[in-house]
Amino acid sequence: MKRIVVTGGCGFIGSNFVRMMHESHPDLVIANIDKLTYAGNAENLADLDASPRYQFRRGDICDREFVKGVLSEAPVDALLNFAAESHVDRSILDSGPFVQTNIVGTQVLLDACREFKVPRYVQISTDEVYGSLGSEGFFTEETPIAPNSPYSSSKAASDLLVRAYVHTFGFPAVITRCSNNYGPYQFPEKLLPLFISNAMEGKSLPVYGKGENIRDWIHVLDHCRGIEAALLKGRDGEVYNFGGRTEMTNIALTKLLLKLLDKPESLIRYVADRPGHDLRYAIDCTKAETELGWKPQVSFESGLQATIDWYQQHADWVQRIRSGAYQSYYERQYGQR
Ligand code: NAD
Repeated sequence: MKRIVVTGGCGFIGSNFVRMMHESHPDLVIANIDKLTYAGNAENLADLDASPRYQFRRGDICDREFVKGVLSEAPVDALLNFAAESHVDRSILDSGPFVQTNIVGTQVLLDACREFKVPRYVQISTDEVYGSLGSEGFFTEETPIAPNSPYSSSKAASDLLVRAYVHTFGFPAVITRCSNNYGPYQFPEKLLPLFISNAMEGKSLPVYGKGENIRDWIHVLDHCRGIEAALLKGRDGEVYNFGGRTEMTNIALTKLLLKLLDKPESLIRYVADRPGHDLRYAIDCTKAETELGWKPQVSFESGLQATIDWYQQHADWVQRIRSGAYQSYYERQYGQR
């Protein structure tokens, strides 16, 4: 591989993936297409700004001409689509941007990759497309899709488009579906960075309902390594699930965080449950383990402590997001273009 295009590389998982690939593939050129929505922070990859192997291209994946322009700059060996509207709560308030970016944007990328004969496409998806589990069982790649939120239904729709392009056109795509990620550079509206930052500032931690919903947690770098394995070894048309084999109720996680931060449980504030809140997600990642030779490497205990340490050491990063100052980084670094 000489050049790959990543979309959404200024977000949480995309920025971790770009950094990992930049480090581990010394000759690889990485073009990053990102619109810089509220969730995109060009500063997340500030350490790569000076690299001749990192090309930032600000733009919208729904903009056909723009996407084709990036693909036409030089041959592309793979495109990985991380760009998405990703916050369930926002999708409940307004599903419009989710339909636009997650579905229409994916269609634009698929068409452009077909036109430019890009030999590999990776769609970064989520376990939420499978819906909710009861107290038993796991999602496998064969589990029928049954999304419950506007976010997960828009992701499921984009997965189905990818599937249809594989089936109809022989398009060389794989789909990855992962459980809840944690780690550095996650936008502080999501549970873990929000709770860590609030607790550090002595603010309350809003827990939905009774906090009984169960999520499976995986360190973002384990997810990124899985995506890399799917990129290099995945079979066209296949879906690969990734998970951390770490199931936990939200309330247990909240109490664990408070304990690690040495803060009182009185900071917990129970709030009205999210409408349609899925009870439990749990992933069976046997296929990724056997076919791709992947397995999670970061233990939850050490990964969570390292994540807490990172947010404590990067309180200014959180502060710049909360104040909105992060949005001017692009203009300062790259000028108006
Ligand atoms: P994020 O919200 O942190 O980042 C999304 C990025 O996409 C941002 O940089 C944003 O500016 C960019 N973007 C949004 N709309 C765009 C558009 N129209 N054109 C170009 N760029 C656009 O999201 P994340 O948590 O890093 O998630 C990345 C992907 O992984 C998403 O597709 C998400 O569905 C999937 N995923 C996330 C998780 C998780 O736990 N965070 C788990 C499984 C799968």
